Amino acid sequence: MKLYVLYAGDIICRDISQLNDGFPDKGEIELANPVFLVQHPKGWLLWDAGLSDELVHRPEGVEAWIFHLKMKRTVLEQLHELGVAPDDIDYFAFSHVHNDHTGNARYFKSARLIMQEKEYDLAFHQEKKPHNFGDYEVLKQSEAIKLNGDFDLFGDGAIRFISTPGHTPGHQSLLLKLKETGYVLISGDISYYADNYQKKGVPVFNTNKEDSLASIEKVGKLVELYQAQLWIQHDKARFDTLKLSPEYYQ
Ligand SMILES: [Zn+2]
Repeated sequence: MKLYVLYAGDIICRDISQLNDGFPDKGEIELANPVFLVQHPKGWLLWDAGLSDELVHRPEGVEAWIFHLKMKRTVLEQLHELGVAPDDIDYFAFSHVHNDHTGNARYFKSARLIMQEKEYDLAFHQEKKPHNFGDYEVLKQSEAIKLNGDFDLFGDGAIRFISTPGHTPGHQSLLLKLKETGYVLISGDISYYADNYQKKGVPVFNTNKEDSLASIEKVGKLVELYQAQLWIQHDKARFDTLKLSPEYYQ
């Protein structure tokens, strides 16, 4: 099995106090925004869809609430570089449906969609649709695998979806078992960066604080149990140490 790390945007958070409810942290922080491509013998999985590729046409970036969003290269060109077409993706999964994770989702409509059922309902079924609904609306036609908890995709322990609600109602994380690298836990947005994780800072905009803290604890236990590397998706310090596609982990 191979794991590719794809660039999918740069984010500046203008006010980290918003990410750390209850802590007096001030100032801004640069965040990464990768997506992850897994090549398992039984198929390709893409985890998250990043910021929209269309942002490359706005080189100065855009402001969105406390976030500055920028895209320097597209996800599609990185897939193309690997010889992977959007239709080659067999499984597509969201950690959750915030707009920094849904930007290019529309390209992966032929994949089977893997989401926690609560997130699926939030994404597609609530009366007032999320503002980024257009990013993923076409996936409504996709065959969906709706989860209610943890799930081992192929039953071999290589790709496991871990239910980690709190940031959103059906937020999930990804636990991978790689032959040489060992276990890697890709956290989604249970935390935004290492210090945020260690201090158990909960963003003020999370949907449930208690669930958020329980999910941080759950991830911590799995990391310890499997001696896993914890890759907090938005943690730029971590991202800057990672090999980017076309290089890969195995
Ligand atoms: Zn995010």
